[in-house]
Amino acid sequence: MSAGPEGDDGGLEIATASTLTEGFETGTKTAYAAADVTLASGVWNMNDALLGNLSSDVKTGTQAARIRNSGRVTMRFDRSSGAGTVTIHHASFGTDASGTWGLFESQNGGATWTQVGTSKATTGGSFSTATFTVNLAGTIRFDIRKLDGGSNRIDFDDITVTDFAGAGAALSVHTTLGIPAPTSTGDPSAFLSVKSGYVISYNSGRKVPNWVSWELNTSYLGAIDRQDDFRPDDTLPPTLPQAQLSDYSGSGFDRGHMCPSADRTLTTASNSQTFYLTNMVPQSAHNNRGPWARMESDLRVIAGTGKELFIIAGGVFTGSSGTIGSGVSVPDKTFKVAVVLDAVGQGTANVTTSTRVIGVMMPNSDALISQSADWRDFRVSVDAIEAATGDDFLSDVDPAVQAVIESRVDNL
Ligand code: MN
Ligand code: MN
Repeated sequence: MSAGPEGDDGGLEIATASTLTEGFETGTKTAYAAADVTLASGVWNMNDALLGNLSSDVKTGTQAARIRNSGRVTMRFDRSSGAGTVTIHHASFGTDASGTWGLFESQNGGATWTQVGTSKATTGGSFSTATFTVNLAGTIRFDIRKLDGGSNRIDFDDITVTDFAGAGAALSVHTTLGIPAPTSTGDPSAFLSVKSGYVISYNSGRKVPNWVSWELNTSYLGAIDRQDDFRPDDTLPPTLPQAQLSDYSGSGFDRGHMCPSADRTLTTASNSQTFYLTNMVPQSAHNNRGPWARMESDLRVIAGTGKELFIIAGGVFTGSSGTIGSGVSVPDKTFKVAVVLDAVGQGTANVTTSTRVIGVMMPNSDALISQSADWRDFRVSVDAIEAATGDDFLSDVDPAVQAVIESRVDNL
């Protein structure tokens, strides 16, 4: 783990994205008694364990961690970028009998521990690789424990811990910071559609998206004109009810883009993709053409300076929400959450308590919002938007970091 470049981070150590490796080659510990030892990755505690360098030690290089009885080898430091997968080489020392052991994780600095997966059996004097799927965000440390309690000894070596990539990143770059609410291609009220330009959770009961999530940086921005080819989404199953152009016609509401046309101007196809009605909600003209549009523009200006933005937008509905046309729901408010990261390519591990997060909720009624209003006057915390929508934004970000940045109202 390496320290990041951040300055004032509230006293937390912020790790940059990286794979932790520990080969037990640095340091000396030749007795079994419990003691801390400084290894290449940081300080570890070895209890009924030592750094074995005998010919009977199975090792990569000149040393391995050798554990006997109910011994433990424990990290005394945290990773802050979570953990995806942990791999560990293990073998019996010399001709010792087989044994069992387990990997444990702690997300509270070692106060409490939880076993990862199942216990492993070690048999034989050459390395096997144990692989553990962890997939936890945020602060984490690990502990290897011999579980059989016998006097047989086990060698461990070549530990790797990868960063937690997150369920959102696995789905699409557009949901890098997490998926706001469960969505799948089997759920008509939260139908998942992963497009090249954005990801939507589509509500076929309301005929509008629950949310739309997209990445914005200069790689999406070019000189292509608005295609203006508003149309139903031909990538959805034909059995799913959708809004039609006639539903909006004469309704008094705009066909309001969530992922804006002007955020996708590199190619004709990418721009045209934003004109699916599944990317729209009926939006008040004052909202859409006023503060909403100016906020969209300001976010593109930020992206133009080389930043990486992750944006989520949608409607806020209540029991009294109205409809237009053949049952297209009109949201009471529109919301947006925009996270600003320093450099293109950054993700969850780069979100810190200092990261700028802009949340807004704007009335979706011409009577309640002026077209000349400043979008900044509608800023709220992400917590407030989560309370209004039931979504969990930035869900793959370390929960301790979410707690800080989601309770803050942007004031830049
Ligand atoms: Mn618009
Ligand atoms: Mn959240």
